[in-house]
Amino acid sequence: MSESAEWTKGAAAISYQRCACCAHVQYFRRDFCAACGSLALTDHAASGEGTIYATSLVCRAATPETRAHVPYNIVLVDMREGFRMMAHGDQDLAIGDVVSARFVPFAGATVPYFERTR
Ligand SMILES: [Zn+2]
Repeated sequence: MSESAEWTKGAAAISYQRCACCAHVQYFRRDFCAACGSLALTDHAASGEGTIYATSLVCRAATPETRAHVPYNIVLVDMREGFRMMAHGDQDLAIGDVVSARFVPFAGATVPYFERTR
């Protein structure tokens, strides 16, 4: 199985896996399909486009590194490719907003950040 570029590894990209047997897509990297157990998974780069499923404003920092960013918005995004992911986003985002990802520095890392596209 090949590993594609991923923001968790320092690249400005979001990747996901698709099952060759049942077409299930999953964001959290596994060695098997969470739906059918198949090992026939392929890696794909996501478009970075999706729709806001939920938002949560963080007002208290969990670590000293994140304190400088408070308050910040954590969003759950239903991605166009069919998986759901958690990321940072604009504070005025609402459920149902169409968004796209860019990449910003946060607490020493580069993380996906969603903003409204229309
Ligand atoms: Zn499957």
